[in-house]
Amino acid sequence: MKAAIYYGPRNIKIKEVPEPKVTGTKVSVQFKAGSICGTDLHLYRGDWKIKRGRIIGHDAWGTRADTGKRVVMSPVTSCGKCYYCKRGKQSLCERVLYYGLTKGGFFAETVAIREKNLIPLPNGVSDDEAAMIEPVALALHTLELLHPEVNDFVTVVGQGPIGLLMTQIAKLKGCRVIAVDTQAYRLELAEKLGADYTINASEEDTVKRVKRITKRGSDVVIESAGTQKTVEQTPFLVRKAGQVALVGEFEGYLNLGDADEACFFSTYISAAEYPTAVDLVAHKKVNLQSLITHRFPLDDFEKAIETAADPTQKPIKIIVTS
Ligand SMILES: [Zn+2]
Ligand SMILES: [Zn+2]
Repeated sequence: MKAAIYYGPRNIKIKEVPEPKVTGTKVSVQFKAGSICGTDLHLYRGDWKIKRGRIIGHDAWGTRADTGKRVVMSPVTSCGKCYYCKRGKQSLCERVLYYGLTKGGFFAETVAIREKNLIPLPNGVSDDEAAMIEPVALALHTLELLHPEVNDFVTVVGQGPIGLLMTQIAKLKGCRVIAVDTQAYRLELAEKLGADYTINASEEDTVKRVKRITKRGSDVVIESAGTQKTVEQTPFLVRKAGQVALVGEFEGYLNLGDADEACFFSTYISAAEYPTAVDLVAHKKVNLQSLITHRFPLDDFEKAIETAADPTQKPIKIIVTS
């Protein structure tokens, strides 16, 4: 079968590999479509490294070989027995494995995966939408941790796929969203998806504008751009006793001088929100279709990831199909 294999930075290739073995509680899933995530780009650019020869991809769906049913594949496996699993924090499991990172991923014609990692797809979820469930689950998880009040100001820094989902879920929670990015095309989309205010950080001072809009600073700040500059800016955007979510891996040093009693925390992918994410998409509560800017067959994976890493192509979500 064909699969997208990581050989190092800027070196991910489609190769012929043996079919995976289906043993024990695993089932065989025929890959139908997936999407390229910021994590894949970190690997492509060389920010993060994984084992050479590993199949990448962790946001995808397919059909079960045994029943023919459509399923989303959740990329996190947990042991169910450790300190964190027993406290309901399965995504922090001490023996956690991530498909596409610490274990072979989903960009392959066939995937052997544990049955409990499969979430059935209702008819209301289109084939394209099913390929982008991960950022919805991450946005749900982050907003669950923040639990903002109705009418709170939520500043979302970075309007890539994850930021655009944070914007949409914050609107579902009844918040006022301030969307920040350096790219006009992303801000236009953020506005279309419900952002109340947009700030182009390449043209204006984000901190001054947020202070002007909110008077005392944003109740909640979600950092989803992942740059040192935007991480280090967060203490100056949040109000006293506000909350800051640093999404995924981040770098930077926080100057907390003025951020009195504010709460800062990091957040990461969680499998627990996948069923709710699927349900929200099925009921048209979030708009995923408008995030799609490009699509490529799995055979053209190299072109797909090159495009995702090239800002001149104005990528948001890139769909990879079977
Ligand atoms: Zn991801
Ligand atoms: Zn565990």
